[in-house]
Amino acid sequence: MGNRIKQWWGLVQDGEHVRKFLIRSNVHAAIYMTVIVILLECWMLFSLGQNIVQSAAAGKPRDLPWIVSHSAWYVGLMASAIVVLVCAVNYLHGKIKNGKLVNAILFVFSLACLVFGVHFGNNSYIQGEQVLAFVTMTLFVFGILSWKPIAALVLSTVAFGGFYLYIDHNAPATLGTQVNLFTLWIATFVVSLSSYHQKVSEANKERELEETNRRLRYIASYDELTGIPNMHTFRGAVAVLLGGIDELDTRFAISYMDLEGFKVYNGRYGFAAGDDLLRDFAQGLLKVFDNELVARFSDDHFVALCDADVVEDRIEAARELLHELRGDVRLHLKAGSYELTGEHDDVGLACDKARVACNRIKKMADKNLRWYDDAIEHEFQRKQYIINNVKRAVKEGWIKVFYQPVVRCSDGSGELCGYEALARWDDPTYGLLPPFAFIETLEEHREIDKLDRCIIEQVCRDLRAEMDAGQQPVPVSLNFSRLDFELYDVPGFLDEIRNKYHIPSKLLDVEITESALTEQFKELQTTMSSLRDESHSLWLDDFGSGYSSLNVLKDFQFNVLKIDMAFLRGFPENEKSGPILSAVVSLATELGLVSLCEGVETLEQFEFLHSIGCERAQGYYFGKPDPTKALPKPLA
Ligand code: C2E
Ligand code: MG
Ligand code: MG
Repeated sequence: MGNRIKQWWGLVQDGEHVRKFLIRSNVHAAIYMTVIVILLECWMLFSLGQNIVQSAAAGKPRDLPWIVSHSAWYVGLMASAIVVLVCAVNYLHGKIKNGKLVNAILFVFSLACLVFGVHFGNNSYIQGEQVLAFVTMTLFVFGILSWKPIAALVLSTVAFGGFYLYIDHNAPATLGTQVNLFTLWIATFVVSLSSYHQKVSEANKERELEETNRRLRYIASYDELTGIPNMHTFRGAVAVLLGGIDELDTRFAISYMDLEGFKVYNGRYGFAAGDDLLRDFAQGLLKVFDNELVARFSDDHFVALCDADVVEDRIEAARELLHELRGDVRLHLKAGSYELTGEHDDVGLACDKARVACNRIKKMADKNLRWYDDAIEHEFQRKQYIINNVKRAVKEGWIKVFYQPVVRCSDGSGELCGYEALARWDDPTYGLLPPFAFIETLEEHREIDKLDRCIIEQVCRDLRAEMDAGQQPVPVSLNFSRLDFELYDVPGFLDEIRNKYHIPSKLLDVEITESALTEQFKELQTTMSSLRDESHSLWLDDFGSGYSSLNVLKDFQFNVLKIDMAFLRGFPENEKSGPILSAVVSLATELGLVSLCEGVETLEQFEFLHSIGCERAQGYYFGKPDPTKALPKPLA
């Protein structure tokens, strides 16, 4: 028999959930049914009493066997209904746990009801009345309770067949009665069939819903990948602790951990292995921070809460754990810790402080742990200030453009050929802030677009003013963050502002750092080709500062290669600087790129660049970034 047919007949073993659902639903139905039966039998017993009294008053007293047989039926059914009611209530309260026993009790009670129905239906039939007692009882048994179809078929057939034979034996049934009973039997079976399938489908839906809820509850509290608590749970637990921290003797600290080099690990061994590492590390952390709180925040970032006195030991143990797991990739654990001060601490802020402390030692090979201290507090306050005030800074004109000249080098003239626009934040409280004080913060909070759009507009406004004054401006190069390309339509915005100020695109060059080009490869290529179509010159900024430089040259099409100032820094003391610079300039020439060297601070450096064929130069030697478009210092 096909599985579907078996299922249809209820011959397939029900799952645990469906089984329990059916029992529960039948137990509920039995409670309604037994209450009705008890009330009904009370009524019958009352009528019986009335009948006995009235008969006696009329001088025709009922004989004892008659009284006993009638009251026995009523009392018997009522007693069994009471037993079933007690069992059902106890099952719902968990006092009876055996589902099979409950099923058996319900089955016996149903049989009792059917026998009662057959008996009183027959009595009515003999007296020429309708067989309502039988109909009522079959309705109770098959309409309220859910039976497996096969059981319903057998039980209803036995009930109807038995009833038919019984009444036919006492008074032969007419064709009408036969047809009525047959129709009722079919209808009863169909009702119980549909009730069963409906209940099973309800049970399945309920199970799916419960599973989804369980999953959602799990996801809301635990990290799916590692199985340890997530940020939400961690924050909740710390918030509870903070509520009562003033009464505790222990000093608590939040530690933020970062697996430095995890991207490289992913690159070397693949994402699946990266996931395994995170899982193993998380499980290991549970042991390191035994009986303390550990959570995964995101990516390769974990947090833990423990006694401030044991932080050093715990971080050392976590570092050793990572050491064992890392394979031959140089993975380092960096941690930042913040000691909770009390009720007025905000959990989110406390975690942020631990993270900021951690970030402070990211590039320091010799340090694994940094406590959040006053120095960081000041920096943190400033960062908070930057984030809270970026909109205001744009509106109030605190964002200023400083221009640094770019000069011609290939002809050795050192003459002006462009400017680089560099942002400054001229703050009423903090004074003039250089980019390192705000660019990274704005990037971290995905607010960098506000600053960059403001710079673009100011540059265009300045160019317009020069053109209106009858001057012929030189091109200005603009710095873009990797996030600009995610946060807004860069080509569209440039186009809009150029049109507003009527600036030719040749006057606006686009600088993109090589680190911006490691992600969202396809989207960036599309954006860059739009910019190229609009005749913007594309510059690769800080070439050589990252580890993907050469790949970037292969995959993207630039016009200008801006060589990072780190190459010049050692020149001429470091003998290798010269040949490396020379090779990079030749590479640019061979690839058809204009070479531009940043960080020229001496005439000697400039002359060297000229000698190796570098086309342009920029650096303090010619001029520092300045709010006016100052001319480059002439060659001495
Ligand atoms: P960058 O684009 O590589 O800019 C060159 C940086 O080198 C500038 O620092 C400049 O002042 C400095 N510099 C130029 N010549 C010399 C030199 O001879 N010696 C030394 N030691 N330094 C020199 P600045 O202005 O502090 O900018 C730092 C970085 O901030 C920029 O590096 C750029 O990546 C970013 N930045 C600046 N303005 C903006 C902006 O408007 N938007 C975005 N997204 N980033 C910007
Ligand atoms: Mg630049
Ligand atoms: Mg640069």
